[in-house]
Amino acid sequence: MTWKQIDPKQILLEKIKTNGGWVNAHTHIDRSYIINHKNYAQTEDPLHLKWDHPDEFKARVTVDEIVGHMSQVIDNQLAQGVQALGSFIDCDSIVKDKNLKAAAIVRDRYKGQLELKFIHQPIKGLMDAEERRWFEEAASFVDIIGGLPEHDSKIKIGVDKKAEHLDILFETAKRHNKPLHVHIDQLNDPNQRDTELLIQKTREYDYKSKVSAIHCISIAAQEKSYRERIYKELVEQDITVIACPSAWIDGRRSETPAPTHNSITPIDEMIPAGVRVALGTDDISDIYKPFSDGDMWTELRFLLEATHTYDIDRLVEIATVNGRRALFLD
Ligand SMILES: [Zn+2]
Repeated sequence: MTWKQIDPKQILLEKIKTNGGWVNAHTHIDRSYIINHKNYAQTEDPLHLKWDHPDEFKARVTVDEIVGHMSQVIDNQLAQGVQALGSFIDCDSIVKDKNLKAAAIVRDRYKGQLELKFIHQPIKGLMDAEERRWFEEAASFVDIIGGLPEHDSKIKIGVDKKAEHLDILFETAKRHNKPLHVHIDQLNDPNQRDTELLIQKTREYDYKSKVSAIHCISIAAQEKSYRERIYKELVEQDITVIACPSAWIDGRRSETPAPTHNSITPIDEMIPAGVRVALGTDDISDIYKPFSDGDMWTELRFLLEATHTYDIDRLVEIATVNGRRALFLD
């Protein structure tokens, strides 16, 4: 008997190639490959401390050196056949405009090789006047306005200013006529209901079809009727959700009761509900994720295994066309 085997991975990779190659819809190329012997110990720290750990690097690094770090990532991505990449870059009182200058050089250097979209990361929050000035400075440069409401919450600043953070993002995006990417519901915590807040603000600012949400993991920790309502509203507001599997598969143990699920964007429910899902690597070899190597297949594998998603055509969409939509390329 000859058993005609198939290799699902090869079928998937061929289809991704036919669709123009991978789209990495979310990463942070300005702080990739910054692990050294000294800062490795900081990789064990909680998230709200890690937000400030790259400061030593950011203060000392030159524009040319940042160009080197960014190019190292892009060369890695090109070698895998990545057609488009969306990267957050910090612009704040520590790094000042060095990342903006480096990004302009990199944009030129790789013209014609892949599509690049730069997005601003307000890693120091938006409540401090000086940080707000740097946010404004970046807003004119970047392609997409970026946000991190979790910074301006109890875990970092002791009070909840997430709604205010979102208001600033939407006002700025509107003023510059640019779309929006927001890190949201990262913590896999049922006490976090920030995708709901993002949807509410999208409606309030009339920003349908101009918002992508990164992570949306805490939705998975809510009860079913709530999850279903959020999926419906994500579809209504045409918000793309970007899953970055390896970045949060390490969600910390918690004693808070919640429905059992893996710590990942719940695409097993989102896709049947009609939500558009894209894929990103998030952090590459940095203080947050020292072992992450930016490999797109690894990310897709984590996603499909953790959510039991075997539909090849859906996986191809996640890896390609949906990423283009997430980055507002088409
Ligand atoms: Zn991120």
